[in-house]
Amino acid sequence: MKRIEVAAGALRYDVLVGPLDEARDRLPASAILVSEPKVFALHGDRFRALLGGDAPILLPEGEAAKQWDVLHFLLAQFADRKASRSTAIVALGGGSVGDVAALAASLFKRGCPIIHLPTTLLSQADSAVGGKTAIDAFGEKNLVGSFHQPSLVIADPAFLDTLDPRQLRSGYAEILKYGLIDDAPFFAWCFANGSALLAGDPALREHAISTAIAAKARLIAGDVEDRTGQRALLNLGHSFAHAIESEAGLGRLAHGEAVAIGLVLALRFSAELGLCPPQDVDQLGAHLAEVGLPSTLAEAGLTGPALLQWIARDKKNDGAALTLILARGIGQAFVARDVDPARLAAFLA
Ligand code: NAD
Repeated sequence: MKRIEVAAGALRYDVLVGPLDEARDRLPASAILVSEPKVFALHGDRFRALLGGDAPILLPEGEAAKQWDVLHFLLAQFADRKASRSTAIVALGGGSVGDVAALAASLFKRGCPIIHLPTTLLSQADSAVGGKTAIDAFGEKNLVGSFHQPSLVIADPAFLDTLDPRQLRSGYAEILKYGLIDDAPFFAWCFANGSALLAGDPALREHAISTAIAAKARLIAGDVEDRTGQRALLNLGHSFAHAIESEAGLGRLAHGEAVAIGLVLALRFSAELGLCPPQDVDQLGAHLAEVGLPSTLAEAGLTGPALLQWIARDKKNDGAALTLILARGIGQAFVARDVDPARLAAFLA
């Protein structure tokens, strides 16, 4: 079992990567379990054997969980079950269940503890750590949310054995992002091992998950609430990705598929600005193709100009100029706060 300590301001919590059974003594004696039907049917028994307790609260599967009515339903369930401020909420599922369960936990009685048991590659390597919670609202991705750090995360790669290949690839796109941000050797490792990782090699999966979590922990320490620009690097590819998801219709593309295209667009735009060597963009595109991830808007049935209206609304923007995460090459991402909207529009056209 690997242990990675995350420091988020005054808070410290552990992310454990390894078999859930070995972390049995870290789970609370009682908790409210939030999951969704598919995940609970596949893995609920394992969890029930460890924790027992009441019936789980089951949410709709996938992005459909990140909605106002689901948030309302969850809060109503917490009230019904007489949860107190110290009742632990345990989210068993992918990033969708985790995001809405953590938002509900942050709101209920001004904050109950949330424990994440992520079951997708994306949530194990990324979304369960860092404390961002959200639902989608008014057609926009992650518009309403809060910061609420988990008290514990247990990422058991054995959950991934039941995940379908498309969802595995989606999570892999977020892993690859960590190499692109500031770790060229990890990108090279992904380049060499990505296919075997996706094919099922457990040691490679564990290494990739642990590396991604350690990188995320490093980037959020000192910028827990995404204010100084350090944490913003985690959004490499995401201004494009969120625009892609919103334009395509939320839930149509897997999040990581949109991220894969977004990463290429961020690097390609950087190359067009003369910042990034074009061969780095080509290398990324070739790797995405090798592992079966999309790298172009055409593969998502979209065109560039439609994305601009969504990017203009991005939370990172401040005033008229756009803020994007760009790169001077693989492993050299930086925050560009003064992107000229006309330049971006010409690129997207
Ligand atoms: P998901 O939670 O939507 O799940 C995808 C699919 O996988 C669903 O159909 C689900 O039923 C299924 N599934 C989950 N675990 C399974 C398992 N072990 N076996 C079989 N099927 C399983 O997808 P996701 O990719 O985990 O999460 C995507 C969400 O995460 C997006 O809404 C995204 O915005 C969010 N996200 C949040 C953060 C953050 O920091 N909070 C970071 C990245 C992404």
